Amino acid sequence: MTQTLGHLAEQSWERLGDYDSLFYEGRWHRSLDLAARARRVCGGLVSAGVRPGDRVVVMMATSPEVPVLYQAVWLAGAVVTPVVFLVGPDELRHILTDSGARLVVTSPELLDTVNAAGVDVPVLTELPEAAEHGLVPRDPADLAALMYTGGTTGRAKGVMLSHSGLWNVSRAGYDMSHQEGVNRAIVPVPLSHAYGLIVTIGAMQASEPQQAVLMRWFEPKAFLELAREQRVEFGAVVPAMLQMLLAQDEFPELPHLRFLTCGAAPLTREVLEEFERRMPGVQILEGYGMTETSAVTTFNPPGRRKIGSVGLPLSGYEITIRDSAGEEVECGDVGEICIRGESLMQGYWGATADDSTALVDGELWTGDIGCVDDDGYLYVVDRKKDLIIRGGFNVFPRDVEDALNEHPDVVISGVVGRPDERVGEEVVAFVQLRPGATASADALISWARDRVGRVKYPREVRFVDHIPVTSVLKLDRKALRAQL
Ligand code: ATP
Ligand code: MG
Repeated sequence: MTQTLGHLAEQSWERLGDYDSLFYEGRWHRSLDLAARARRVCGGLVSAGVRPGDRVVVMMATSPEVPVLYQAVWLAGAVVTPVVFLVGPDELRHILTDSGARLVVTSPELLDTVNAAGVDVPVLTELPEAAEHGLVPRDPADLAALMYTGGTTGRAKGVMLSHSGLWNVSRAGYDMSHQEGVNRAIVPVPLSHAYGLIVTIGAMQASEPQQAVLMRWFEPKAFLELAREQRVEFGAVVPAMLQMLLAQDEFPELPHLRFLTCGAAPLTREVLEEFERRMPGVQILEGYGMTETSAVTTFNPPGRRKIGSVGLPLSGYEITIRDSAGEEVECGDVGEICIRGESLMQGYWGATADDSTALVDGELWTGDIGCVDDDGYLYVVDRKKDLIIRGGFNVFPRDVEDALNEHPDVVISGVVGRPDERVGEEVVAFVQLRPGATASADALISWARDRVGRVKYPREVRFVDHIPVTSVLKLDRKALRAQL
């Protein structure tokens, strides 16, 4: 059941008493210690001049200090603007100026990047602490986070997310995924994007103590070792992490692990099935969402999942598939995924605009193409922006990538359109082969033609050492286009 609360900071760890809450680098942190530190850090922020509504940019690698700082910012009535610690100075400059940041909190090893961004904003390299500070009241509709999108298709966009929106999604996600006795998560995804943020706030807000085992950054061996040693029961990953795990020779026994949630980018059936074959007893539960919807919009509940689908809408969300004229399509037909719900963004920040994602009369046109089946399960086809139009026919690059990825010699592929005088756009595939594999470009072209047909198959295959990914491990098609 979802219910609206006015303030994320009221949902602190301490509500559920004193328990082991966050694990990081060899030790557990107690809930009451985390909550008390957040109040001191709030005092520090207020002394540093942070006022209600101010944006505090947080650029730090994952550690318990990150959720403590978020909590402190919310206590102060201010707004969290998280930045993934892998961004370079250019991207950071964009976020600092666009958000009008009041303060940046970072780690000493990232100070060079912050300085190189060259924006005149006060910077702290450790959490400021002072006398404990209490809660500054906020309304449910007040801004809790100004969160930047993944920057997959272009400049990251500032998304305004409210306290109630983030709280409702955390709560609804928990309700949909929770299983009796499954309370300990491993969180290798960065806390700087909506996905990781929701998992960790969810951990604070659940009706029974939740525990999160944090990783500074995902590394497959360390992930498996930590999952075993800390007996984790579920986890939150992205498809690229599953792929990196599959490259490991051996998996340890993980008898406590029940499921991994997976989202943020397309997951192939091949990866899902191979993973579950190698790790019996663990289910991959795919979900879908975007920063603009406070992270999670659909999810495959344990016991009711459909492989290939991204699941059912969380409570509080309604999905409609529309054609370009705005009409709802027939059930099963493909169109743009449009979302209504109480946890949608309030809008893009300031002058930020996007040419493919927009709020229209309270409904979010996501820029993603998909369909919904008779049972209400959503399937994501691809991003509208990445559609290739070849000789008047629509080619979704993901269909071609899926076919190529099935080839035994292919690690991963990326497909983009190259402008072409004759057909408008030509389908070009970039392919990363397994070490020692020998498949020729012609062999892959005919493999793809056999699977996707004579219109969509790639006319050109280019071999690369690595398929580029973004700072959050999504396929970077814009970097591929730049190589053309
Ligand atoms: P930008 O908007 O800056 O280009 P982004 O869209 O990648 O970046 P996010 O908000 O982090 O930024 O990601 C949301 C997008 O990720 C969705 O719109 C969708 O395209 C994709 N996505 C999320 N989950 C899935 C999934 N399970 N399967 C396929 N795509 C997904
Ligand atoms: Mg987007």
